[in-house]
Amino acid sequence: MTLASVLPPTANSLDCSHYAKGLYIGGQWIGGSGIPVVDPSTEQVLAEVPDASEAQATLAVDAAAAAAQGWRTTPPRQRAEILLRCHKLMLERIEELATLISLENGKALSDARGEVTYAAEFFRWYAEEAVRIGGEYRVAPSGSNRILVDMEPIGIAVLITPWNFPAAMATRKIAPALAAGCTVVLKPASETPLTAYALADLYAEAGVPAGVVNVITTTRPGPVTATMLNDARVRKLSFTGSTGVGRTLLTEAAKTVLSCSMELGGNAPFIVFDDADLEAALDGAMVAKMRNAGEACTAANRFIVQDGIYDRFAEGLANRMAALRVGPGTDPATACGPMITKKAVDKIDTLVTDALGKGARILVGGERPEGTGFFYPPTVLVDVPPSAAMAQEEIFGPVAPLYRFTNEDEAVALANDTEYGLAAYIFTQDLKRGLAIAGKVEAGMIALNRGLVSDPAAPFGGVKQSGLGREGGIHGIAEFMEPKYIATAF
Ligand code: NAD
Repeated sequence: MTLASVLPPTANSLDCSHYAKGLYIGGQWIGGSGIPVVDPSTEQVLAEVPDASEAQATLAVDAAAAAAQGWRTTPPRQRAEILLRCHKLMLERIEELATLISLENGKALSDARGEVTYAAEFFRWYAEEAVRIGGEYRVAPSGSNRILVDMEPIGIAVLITPWNFPAAMATRKIAPALAAGCTVVLKPASETPLTAYALADLYAEAGVPAGVVNVITTTRPGPVTATMLNDARVRKLSFTGSTGVGRTLLTEAAKTVLSCSMELGGNAPFIVFDDADLEAALDGAMVAKMRNAGEACTAANRFIVQDGIYDRFAEGLANRMAALRVGPGTDPATACGPMITKKAVDKIDTLVTDALGKGARILVGGERPEGTGFFYPPTVLVDVPPSAAMAQEEIFGPVAPLYRFTNEDEAVALANDTEYGLAAYIFTQDLKRGLAIAGKVEAGMIALNRGLVSDPAAPFGGVKQSGLGREGGIHGIAEFMEPKYIATAF
């Protein structure tokens, strides 16, 4: 047990260089530098991690290949016990990990603690799944043979993750991959690599053998990941990130006909009907919008509100948003931390300016603060026209735009007017209507009268250009397995 796991760390007491020992390949730390990790609250460099070359990416695949046979033949019960230890250690270290996430990502400590709990749960869930991997046994319809189907680990998996959930986006892939019997190379986002490296240490302590999980960081993700994707030993790509990068990677993966799982961008509608419970809708709106200060793929991006409740909902939301305290994520009083980079703030600012130019009005926020840190205030915009750029693009920040509708068909048409289809939120007290609308909205996940949709036990993923495949639930492990059919003559 480390000292950090005994004493809850403060931002000042956490030595970030401890998590920047090097690339993690084959159970060894390979030192280096080249990627400064910046605290988005202070703009100070927290630590520097190595910038992997193509040759080092191949070394990581070598390590995953060397460990592959041993791991796929490790009995499922043993794999499950190792995963359970990962779950336990993550929860024991929750304060250390949450502080680290908060430092490098900027999110409020309460959000960071929530992320660690959510991230750890994937290990428990997939420990439980590892011992229940089934197959099939049937008589062929012709009667001439038996059909045996064995579920095999798909092979070496390359995992690429974004910066907005540095722990959870990684464990949502690593846990099912390991449960299935695959070895992996993780490439986390350069903005938030320290959490991924901290977790690599933790996996080793939990008993994950050397080479089963490898972690590399790079400033040139295109060529470095292409090296791995073009390596014939790699059989899986699991990516979470923007739709644009997802498209590029699908093209790259086509060269080796690689199995791909894609968790991409979102543009979630949050539909509020006149008959909604106003307080419940406002509670839900705050969770759906402000978890991670809006930097979530499931974040409510468009509030589509019916005429009769529009003004009361707008006023209630503005009051709640105005009451949020903005500050460094590591300050326990903070509810809304900084954005990840200056570029992210620039994008939000441009989207708000565009909406205002097209007729939107500000109820609260909307003005970028001066000074240090990548901050943007909680903002509510009303009368936003569907022609505003933010109706089509991910805002990825604490801005809530309200659109107005009169009847159900209009609400559904507005909700579906996007290339994305990840999450959607519906508020109505009429369950029959709620389920009918849920059936018509094009999204992989619907939250009905609640603001939180993610659950490790449920299938997470999108339709349309929000992705391919599912993570979590009983579906997530299938992405890392391949059925092998054996026609048996007896
Ligand atoms: P991003 O696409 O810029 O980067 C994601 C990852 O891809 C990072 O590790 C990055 O280094 C890497 N990358 C970038 N260019 C690459 C290339 N050419 N080849 C290989 N890898 C490359 O996304 P981001 O800004 O880090 O994250 C925000 C995006 O992620 C948003 O669009 C958000 O909606 C999406 N997201 C989706 C989910 C989901 O589950 N659907 C979850 C979280 C975030």
